[in-house]
Amino acid sequence: MSLIIGLTGGIGSGKSTVAKFFAGLGADVVDTDSIAHELTQPQGAAIPAIRKIFTGKFITAEGALNRKEMRALVFSDDGLRRKLEAILHPLIRIEVARRAASFSAPYGIIVVPLLFETGGYREMIGRVLVVDCDEQVQIARAMARTGLDEQTARAIMATQLSRRERLRRADDVIANDADMPHLRQQVDVLHKKYLTLVNKD
Ligand code: ATP
Repeated sequence: MSLIIGLTGGIGSGKSTVAKFFAGLGADVVDTDSIAHELTQPQGAAIPAIRKIFTGKFITAEGALNRKEMRALVFSDDGLRRKLEAILHPLIRIEVARRAASFSAPYGIIVVPLLFETGGYREMIGRVLVVDCDEQVQIARAMARTGLDEQTARAIMATQLSRRERLRRADDVIANDADMPHLRQQVDVLHKKYLTLVNKD
């Protein structure tokens, strides 16, 4: 494996959709959101620390993280959000590195919503791919997919890097303001580009 791409973008920008397209083209993909879910399932590695710091109110009867309760709390309180991130992010990074070590496709994709905001990924990745879209579209898609209200979607966006800054730090950008075929087409172009880059090494 000579090329690992860090895929990022704001909430609802289309990261998971793009990652799925790349996986369909044969790329190895690891998604930090899925790892976060696994870590916070019953018996997940993050549960004991969450229980200790946040009290049982945030743990469901089954022993998983109560995501709804926690989301409402952490996105209205920066200090608590940082505490939760301090539990989750190191565990996620370790798991990403473990999975990336067994990547075997020509190139791999690591989906990290907070790629720039969280340290520790730059040394793993060769390029940054940003999925970009208009903020109003982002909010509408995030609300439709997750059932979040607009205020929460905006609060989450406020914790993320600005669109402009994200674009400034990108090696490659996918513009996702149009329809799915348009998105797919851009992924196909990048797939070819990544294969070319890998073959040059
Ligand atoms: P989140 O940050 O919330 O995890 P995400 O960046 O992974 O979101 P997706 O889940 O891929 O974004 O997309 C958000 C929603 O928007 C999904 O329901 C997806 O099907 C839809 N969507 C993404 N791109 C397009 C598009 N070009 N046209 C129409 N719908 C789209």
